[in-house]
Amino acid sequence: MEKILEINNLNKSFQDFALKDISFSLEPGYIMGFIGPNGAGKSTTIKLIMNLLKKDSGEIKIFGKDHVRYEKEIKEDIGFVYDQNHFYDNLSITDMTKILAPFYKKWDQARYLHYIEQFELPKHRLIKEFSKGMVMKYSLAVALSHQARFIIMDEPTAGLDPIIRSELLDILYEIIQDETASILFSTHITKDLDKIADYITFINRGNMVFSRPKDEILESYRVVKGDKNILTGAIRKKLIGLKEHGVGFEAMLATKDWDNSLQERVLIEPPNLEDIMIYTVREDRQNKIDS
Ligand code: ADP
Ligand code: MG
Repeated sequence: MEKILEINNLNKSFQDFALKDISFSLEPGYIMGFIGPNGAGKSTTIKLIMNLLKKDSGEIKIFGKDHVRYEKEIKEDIGFVYDQNHFYDNLSITDMTKILAPFYKKWDQARYLHYIEQFELPKHRLIKEFSKGMVMKYSLAVALSHQARFIIMDEPTAGLDPIIRSELLDILYEIIQDETASILFSTHITKDLDKIADYITFINRGNMVFSRPKDEILESYRVVKGDKNILTGAIRKKLIGLKEHGVGFEAMLATKDWDNSLQERVLIEPPNLEDIMIYTVREDRQNKIDS
């Protein structure tokens, strides 16, 4: 089947930052979480995908088509949720939507109204009086109302309170249950992805760390904790993001590096995505200091 998104060796340099050889792809019907700490390059990647920034080199295809050459037709089928309010503040959503809807050939007003009801958004109050959560919900309602095949969201949950966040995630979860749309969802709050993501793409300091199925990633690592006195050179070498405290240590270990001789000596736990991000970033920082 045709891929929804395909990125090959994408590069973009700024004065103090470079996105280097980013490659990943997304198939129809899946949710991909796009993770990395603040400043990793997530928004830059998304802006490059949307051609809001010009890439230096590499290839980006959406629905199998070059994202610059076919930009206009591709964007008809993309629902884009920005990381900040990009609507006219002095309008109500009703007036704002009157401006936006004509841009989409497949605009579905009934569906739009359905989401406005479901999200309990006031139709006639000015957008500038909206909370961040309300703006996000409006943005999502628009993104979902023109039969988009691909929804791209840049940190849709950042700055939302936990209740609105979980509500938003439930909505997304529902959407993928009965839709064939694919979603690319960037966040530095990995908890959001534990439940809903099928794939995870992780970047750090502009570099690819991995892009893999979530379940496979969770299987690939273990968190280990134990007494510092077992840390021989050979063991240290294998540990990822080692942190020592008092007499103990904690670190991550690739499942393939697990060694039965450790069995009696360490406590072993399955990681969540947050653990994987934290230990990997710590390892990367330690290597940067060492080298
Ligand atoms: P993330 O979204 O993962 O937090 P960003 O992609 O926003 O990260 O930013 C990555 C890096 O690129 C940051 O160091 C940021 O300062 C830099 N950057 C982003 N946009 C620009 C720009 N237009 N000009 C120069 N530097 C930029
Ligand atoms: Mg960002």
